[in-house]
Amino acid sequence: AEEAQKALSEDLDHVWHPLLQHKTLRENPPLLMVAGHGATVVDAEGREYIDAFAGLWCVNVGYGRTEIAEAAYEQLRKLAYYPHTQANVPAALLADRVSRLAGMEHTYFVNSGSEANEAAFKLARQYHKNRGQPERYKIIGRYYAYHGTTLATLAAGGLPERRVKYEPMPDGFLHAPPAYCYRCPFGQKYPSCGLACARYIEYMIEAEGPETVAAIVMEPIQSGVGVLVPPDEYLPTVAEIARRHGVLLIIDEVINGFGRTGRWFAHQHYGIRPDLMAVAKGISSGYLPLAATLATDEVFQGFLGDPAEGRHAMQVNTWGGHAGACAAALKNIELMEREDLVGNAERVGAHLIAGLRSLSHHRWFGEVRGKGLLAALELVEDPDTRRPLAGALLNRIAAACQARGVIVGKYAGWSASGVGTGTALLFSPPLVLTREEADRIVAVVDEALREVGG
Ligand code: PMP
Repeated sequence: AEEAQKALSEDLDHVWHPLLQHKTLRENPPLLMVAGHGATVVDAEGREYIDAFAGLWCVNVGYGRTEIAEAAYEQLRKLAYYPHTQANVPAALLADRVSRLAGMEHTYFVNSGSEANEAAFKLARQYHKNRGQPERYKIIGRYYAYHGTTLATLAAGGLPERRVKYEPMPDGFLHAPPAYCYRCPFGQKYPSCGLACARYIEYMIEAEGPETVAAIVMEPIQSGVGVLVPPDEYLPTVAEIARRHGVLLIIDEVINGFGRTGRWFAHQHYGIRPDLMAVAKGISSGYLPLAATLATDEVFQGFLGDPAEGRHAMQVNTWGGHAGACAAALKNIELMEREDLVGNAERVGAHLIAGLRSLSHHRWFGEVRGKGLLAALELVEDPDTRRPLAGALLNRIAAACQARGVIVGKYAGWSASGVGTGTALLFSPPLVLTREEADRIVAVVDEALREVGG
């Protein structure tokens, strides 16, 4: 206990947490996490929590998987690291495995989701340059999207509160409205809207001049602002628009990927094939840090270029293909396959979502959205006006869940009018979640809503 107190005090003095959290850190000290098993994490005082947020959407295979620790240990003993200017066995096997799961031939290993998206943006631009279309540089993202914390990924994202302090942003990033039917940016209703949000992307491409647009980037299901599940035809429509205009489609599967939505990759629900794809988080379930950018062979050949003409890709990083991290990721994927965790995500996810929908009698209940073990409960002051619930109340609800042994995610919108985004509890538990644990999450959310909301 003394050791834990000392660690926490050193943490408060020296560690930078995500800076949003920092000003309230002393009143709301972080939990000192020391262990975990399955979907459960354990703090220094021995309290157990069902982690309904999987450590920021990433621990897909669950906590305490000693098989992964052992696979990493074996590799670290043999050869922890050699730069990917040469080859190593785990990286080669992993690239093969991931490429086959994704149906995309080439994998470039990086260290974070931000870097994976950043590489995709660079390579999309280079692809067009190599094809004699240097003026194709614009990248269309979506408002309220999150693609990472580096300057270009912030520019591609659409969250003003994360971006404006760091402006000016790199040039050439445009934004389309999200596919958000509960708060339709066009004030319409599905399906009579005719998918105005997808059509607007074509309008943007034409108005900008298709010969200036390099790529579109999106998550299949926009996670962070409240799990915005699009209508089924949205992604196929966007993919078709991109193809027709010679624009590459970059799919961000950093959260959606590796089984979370009940498919290996969420875009597979919609029958599309991306040109470039970013993955991170669930690829190694956080046992060691790893991420990757994938490309189809056609696109890969396109940006590879000819070194003699100076057109080759200039993309490099130090830790890419780290042998220890790749060994952990390989074992992670093997466990997911052996235990059918993608199927479990689909089945237990449907159960969790049905459970959350059964809370519709609460006065703050707005809507439940989700696929697999990726879900959100949007909370409103009043279901008729759909005015978002205040962030302070959301914090109290999440704290009440934590006090009852369930950690949930939360998103509090920036827009007071509610035109932009709402307020939501977020759920992305480890894919090993059982039906009983899903029931417990729902029961705790129910109690927390009653405690805070009366
Ligand atoms: N894309 C999405 C959709 C994300 O949610 C995140 C991180 N939460 C990122 C990219 C960036 O990943 P990282 O934090 O590993 O840089």
